[in-house]
Amino acid sequence: MHAAARFADYLSRKRLKMTRERRVILEQVLAARGHFGVDDLQEILRKAGHTVSRASLYRTLPHLVESGLVHKLEMAKGQARYEPMVGRHHHDHMVCLECGKIIEFESREIERLQDRVCRRKRFSMTGHTHQIRGYCDGCAGRRGPRAGGPDPQAHRV
Ligand SMILES: [Zn+2]
Ligand SMILES: [Zn+2]
Ligand SMILES: [Zn+2]
Repeated sequence: MHAAARFADYLSRKRLKMTRERRVILEQVLAARGHFGVDDLQEILRKAGHTVSRASLYRTLPHLVESGLVHKLEMAKGQARYEPMVGRHHHDHMVCLECGKIIEFESREIERLQDRVCRRKRFSMTGHTHQIRGYCDGCAGRRGPRAGGPDPQAHRV
């Protein structure tokens, strides 16, 4: 299904309308490359000649994420980055809490393990987000070995 149709379908299930503003945000998000923040997106929209408030971006992005068209990455200090998933191969991320560097990776082994864990728990997975938080090579070097230790909020399998 085409992305706009998918989003319209999602909105109608939520009893929401595909407004002109939502359509414009969708179009610009899907055309954007890489992992961008809300400020970046506002700038992209501005350059394309659209004035969209931050408030409406904050209202619309969760819908794009929930519809599965956009992936959200949690960064340090409650910040987030977004990435359109349309036409992209599945991949997961490592996020540096110091400099914000994002490393994409794919591991068939991890994917297989996740499938196996879900089968064992009789859970039918429709998608997943696997995000590793920590420090990139450069930042880990500056912080010294094992600084901070593992994140206590880290997801445990
Ligand atoms: Zn994955
Ligand atoms: Zn870093
Ligand atoms: Zn990515």
